[in-house]
Amino acid sequence: MNTTTHAIHNFSAGPCILPESVLQQAADAVRDLDGSGLSLIEMSHRSKPFVAIMEEARQLVRTELNLPDRYEVLFLQGGASLGFLTTAMNFIPQEGIMDYAVTGTWAKNALKEAKRVGGAHALTSSEDTGFDRIPALPSHSEADFVHITTNNTIFGTQYQGDPEIDVPMVADMSSDIFSRPVDIEKYACIYAGAQKNMGPAGTVLYIYDRDHIGHTGRDIPSYLDLAVHAAKDSMFNTPPVFAVYTSMLTLRWLRDNGGVAAARERNAAKAACIYGEIDRNPLFNGFAETDSRSVMNATFTAEDEAHTAPFLAACEAAGINGIKGHRSVGGFRASMYNALPLASVEVLVEVMREFERTHG
Ligand SMILES: *Cc1c(COP(=O)(O)O)cnc(C)c1O
Repeated sequence: MNTTTHAIHNFSAGPCILPESVLQQAADAVRDLDGSGLSLIEMSHRSKPFVAIMEEARQLVRTELNLPDRYEVLFLQGGASLGFLTTAMNFIPQEGIMDYAVTGTWAKNALKEAKRVGGAHALTSSEDTGFDRIPALPSHSEADFVHITTNNTIFGTQYQGDPEIDVPMVADMSSDIFSRPVDIEKYACIYAGAQKNMGPAGTVLYIYDRDHIGHTGRDIPSYLDLAVHAAKDSMFNTPPVFAVYTSMLTLRWLRDNGGVAAARERNAAKAACIYGEIDRNPLFNGFAETDSRSVMNATFTAEDEAHTAPFLAACEAAGINGIKGHRSVGGFRASMYNALPLASVEVLVEVMREFERTHG
């Protein structure tokens, strides 16, 4: 390990690391968008340059996820947290049901909001074991939709691929969108706050199958009605221009680096690196059950609680940022989103090894 480096290794769970080149271009655009003499954030969202940015962002989502034409793509506001309500309003029929897999805090919040809207039940839950695993979904459901949280950011658990179930799924993919290819036909809707794996906070991506909306029989308030936004090409009101632009830049970066297939390989290599050390090093314990481990967020704790503070200090000294675990798990969480290089994970592993030498 090079202890003289001042490089920061950003393991933050969210908002999170973005590619250096994206940050540079986004910073430049705030002063002057592509030599126009105008700042990105002081020009009309109806201007030609911004309309082109919005269209490119939506198109990149289509091409990178290989979306069939019947899927709509929107960049809205309110984060994934408003998405809990928006998806319930747009998909649950007045007399219908959405079943929820309760696999963490965000999944619980999604169910809570949906219950305000209509028929929403817990299908499975791993709360009794502290959300340390992903319970298998049944292959059959009587519900109209099943809602899943593909990656549980706080607990470090993740579905290992797209589940098999005989009803369309609605998925909160906030913390693993674009980390791997997705079997899109299984999903009626995917939504994701940008700030985990796509861009800065301020926008939330909705991808949905048009055939599945407009059938609820419910009077949906305009801003929460996905069809209203789609009719206005994602510009029903002033869009979050900076967040959309920066997300678009990140999507270009993803495309230029081999797309989601290559991202999956890079993410698998990073995960193998950190989990290999967690399993080898007697001073640390993995939090999640092995077969539910997240490729995006690795959660672990110190075997000896007295080691927690000194290990955090050792990380800080090595330029490792954002490694402290969420308060509901404790210990440590290494978030390894698309833009995090393998080299940063290797630095973390070296700090863990050094810690074993000095504290073991
Ligand atoms: C962070 C997060 C959320 C909340 O996102 P906001 O955009 O802050 O509302 C929801 N779901 C998951 C899986 C998350 O990681």
